[in-house]
Amino acid sequence: MRTIEHWIGGTAATAGATSTAPVWNPATGEHQADVLLADPAGVDAAVAAARDAFPAWSQASLSARTKVLFAFRDLVHRHARELAELIADEHGKVVSDALGEVQRGLEVVEFACGIPQLLKGEYSDQVSTGVDVYSFREPLGVVAGITPFNFPVMVPMWMHPVAIACGNTFVLKPSERDPSASMLVARLWSEAGLPDGVFNVVHGDKTAVDAILDHDDVAAVSFVGSTPIARYIHERATATGKRVQALGGAKNHAIVLPDADVDYASDHLVAAAMGSAGERCMAVSAAVTVGDAGDAVVEAVADKAAKVRVGPGRDESSEMGPVITAAARDRISGLIGTGEEQGARLAVDGRGLTVPGHDDGFWVGPTVFDQVTTDMDVYTEEIFGPVLTVLRADTVDAAIDLINANPYGNGTAIFTSSGSAARRFQRGVQVGMIGINVPIPVPMAYYSFGGWKDSLFGQSHIHGPEGVAFYTRAKVVTSRWPSVEHPADASYHFPTT
Ligand code: NAD
Repeated sequence: MRTIEHWIGGTAATAGATSTAPVWNPATGEHQADVLLADPAGVDAAVAAARDAFPAWSQASLSARTKVLFAFRDLVHRHARELAELIADEHGKVVSDALGEVQRGLEVVEFACGIPQLLKGEYSDQVSTGVDVYSFREPLGVVAGITPFNFPVMVPMWMHPVAIACGNTFVLKPSERDPSASMLVARLWSEAGLPDGVFNVVHGDKTAVDAILDHDDVAAVSFVGSTPIARYIHERATATGKRVQALGGAKNHAIVLPDADVDYASDHLVAAAMGSAGERCMAVSAAVTVGDAGDAVVEAVADKAAKVRVGPGRDESSEMGPVITAAARDRISGLIGTGEEQGARLAVDGRGLTVPGHDDGFWVGPTVFDQVTTDMDVYTEEIFGPVLTVLRADTVDAAIDLINANPYGNGTAIFTSSGSAARRFQRGVQVGMIGINVPIPVPMAYYSFGGWKDSLFGQSHIHGPEGVAFYTRAKVVTSRWPSVEHPADASYHFPTT
């Protein structure tokens, strides 16, 4: 059985770990590898490597850092397919979708290649006679990233390219369910010329995470995962004085107005609900039809959902792969049963799906519920599977109120041909990322990604300008160079201009 090791100080390492977790192939149900689970000593080894690398890396010139970033960008581009296949084999998503994930991560690397521009400070000449004021930003030190299973390349890349470009050193604790892609990323950083110890990978579960949160030498933590863990990470890491951004779970609504093109909206709803088997934090899991849009939308969505081709991620004809584990399959199937019991109308039932030749895979087919109400478990739970729930609202304002009553505020979308309705929606909805006829409005790398309410703990969104601010702290210098013609004029009152 293959063992997936940590990456510490520029090389694969066991760091004394003895316990492991199984890594499955979700399409076959095969136990394909074991991943090491670090204990606190293992985490300490990774943090020590990062701490030792920080003085030199933080002093590396912007040109030297940019050179490494451009080389890394090139290597990720060249290894995109290999990364996508690793994702498909451990996560289960189809290779074309995984390639899209790598591309969105690559865009953050490209953003970070512009670090000389992004780190420019400010300068104010002659704020008082002979006095200038200027600001610049410095890295924090060792920063850590703790990431979920659903985007094993893209989500870590929301973090490490920006953190490293800013002059920090990095410890990544990826999801223990699909850890291999992070090891290839580590090798690519190394090949790009990144000094040993600047990027480290430590695998593990709660024990490793807690060791990171409590470690005195970790200055900041970026987390992406479910809401209960995000809340916990924020509380525990801020208690030890760390800077924290913790992005949580979601229940993303898309509203469909009667003036929307039903074919366009239903195509996009099905793709946004079932793509990646619904295991996306920006997946649309609740469609809210307004007025008399409902019946036509449900009929079109059910028809299209039933035709989604489900199969292994490596099969190019597959549109949707399996879910991550047998436990996830059973949980999702259980929730579908609860939805029926609680009175929702099951328009398409994905339970019990089998894929010929892949009998032991973790399959759940596309599922659509109509007549869902806000008290049902299929609405209140983040199902994180290929399940679309359809709710009905009488007016746009009622649909906006419904969205705003939900505790999450990650992403949302509106399908309409009315500019004024779209504008009312974008202004009224309490959600961080909004799509207008765009179902999965993930911001480009040069904007920042983040939700509101229970989808984010901490102030900072991730990547883009807020990412640069998160991974740096500012200094403001007030400077005077007295000349012999102007003798010292120190004064005891509070300085003003
Ligand atoms: P998760 O919260 O179970 O795990 C995330 C990370 O936390 C993993 O590295 C895991 O090892 C660690 N972890 C798990 N349990 C822990 C515990 N008790 N104590 C400390 N650490 C723990 O999430 P997941 O199942 O891997 O990913 C799916 C979730 O992530 C969904 O809720 C999804 O919405 C969310 N997500 C959010 C975003 C976003 O941008 N807001 C993006 C991707 C995924």
